[in-house]
Amino acid sequence: MADVSKTEKAKLYVPDLEELRAVLQTGLKDNFAEVKVSVVECPDLTKDPFNFPVRGLCGNPRVTDVGGVPYLVPVVQKHKEYDMNAISKELELPGAFILGAGAVSSRIVGMNAELIPLVLTEADGRPAVNSSYFSSINPLDGQCLQESYSEKFSDCNFGLLGNLYACEGRPGKVIEVRAEKRTGDQSIVTALRKTLEVQYPDQSLALGGTFIIQRGKAKIHIMPREFSACPLNSDEEVNSWLKHFEVKAPLICQSVLVSKDPGLDLRVEHTHCFSHHGEGGHYYIDTTPDSVEYLGYFVPAEFIYRIDRPKDTHAVRRD
Ligand code: ZN
Repeated sequence: MADVSKTEKAKLYVPDLEELRAVLQTGLKDNFAEVKVSVVECPDLTKDPFNFPVRGLCGNPRVTDVGGVPYLVPVVQKHKEYDMNAISKELELPGAFILGAGAVSSRIVGMNAELIPLVLTEADGRPAVNSSYFSSINPLDGQCLQESYSEKFSDCNFGLLGNLYACEGRPGKVIEVRAEKRTGDQSIVTALRKTLEVQYPDQSLALGGTFIIQRGKAKIHIMPREFSACPLNSDEEVNSWLKHFEVKAPLICQSVLVSKDPGLDLRVEHTHCFSHHGEGGHYYIDTTPDSVEYLGYFVPAEFIYRIDRPKDTHAVRRD
């Protein structure tokens, strides 16, 4: 377990949901031909295609940036390992439901892989429910291999870095985003983030949630099973180490985004996706702008927690 004793916490700006709805409706129009943003009751996320271990995204919403890319590159620091149950306590929300984007513990999984965390952490008298997926490079054919985490492992650990949204998993009001036909060059996550950045230049806002790419294809990457033997010192070197794929809808994406770093050395957006057809990994953007359809549910977080912030930092791969 890495040192989480120096966790930093910052309050985030949380606009009224109706105000946020209007802001996103206007902003996303710059990037998508069809946009409809609404305030709705969160759909039951225990149902298809989500199959989450909780019903909703509400109740004390918060985000965290754990570890960071500096623990992966230029040279991996394999001892950097975290436990979702301990993270939930660090977030002052023991028993929280946690989703987002991270890396597996290479010590436990025996290789490096993308983690798509979906964890209901343990609480008094209730064990954790780990519905996460992990995605690696299949050594047989070099293709994407997505697996259910709990079918192989019984822990709730992860390694190196994680960008996570935590809440009580309750039903409640959320922001529903429908967007079709991408006309700009931003991913839906970047478009949401930039909209908030422009509208609230002096505030830090964060959104967490889930969205489905209902039609089209997307570009993803998966980290190789082996960490790089030589140091990776630039975006270009990291990019050529990563394996890139084009994967097809429907993809269920878990996302955390922060409009403005309040001085915590954050990764300002990070999204991992899974599917029910065996494809999953780190989402960049759809590759089919004319036919793409997005449907997402997001909640503004009240706090951000910076856990085990790297002392030696750099700007490689921050979004
Ligand atoms: Zn990632």
